[in-house]
Amino acid sequence: MEKIIKTEEEWKAILTPLQFKVLRQKGTEYAFTGEYDKHFASGTYVCAGCENVLFTSEEKYNSGCGWPAFSEAVDNVAVEKHLDKSHGMIRTEVTCAKCDGHLGHVFNDGPINKGGFRYCINSIALKFIPNDNY
Ligand code: FE
Repeated sequence: MEKIIKTEEEWKAILTPLQFKVLRQKGTEYAFTGEYDKHFASGTYVCAGCENVLFTSEEKYNSGCGWPAFSEAVDNVAVEKHLDKSHGMIRTEVTCAKCDGHLGHVFNDGPINKGGFRYCINSIALKFIPNDNY
């Protein structure tokens, strides 16, 4: 996938301060505060930084963890996974494959019948596009 490269100043100009903190500085929004935590309308979730299509409502479920949870990404090129040893934990970080924005982490405690993954994603890193009903 072709990468979108911007300077820190360019990202700051198009992102809110919290979006910048999460997407560009690997921050985490507070649990149970995100717009899409309990949001289950039909549609597509794109990257808030570059609009790369990342997840769909088909794979979204209520994990109870306080952040939007998905059992899988929209396809196997939309996101990238990286070993993350920060904060004294070993986790798998999930980033947007197009802009390298930090999205969240993926864990192995997701729904078994959906493959067992839980993509735990910051709501602020996403933008929801409702399905067109016309
Ligand atoms: Fe992106």
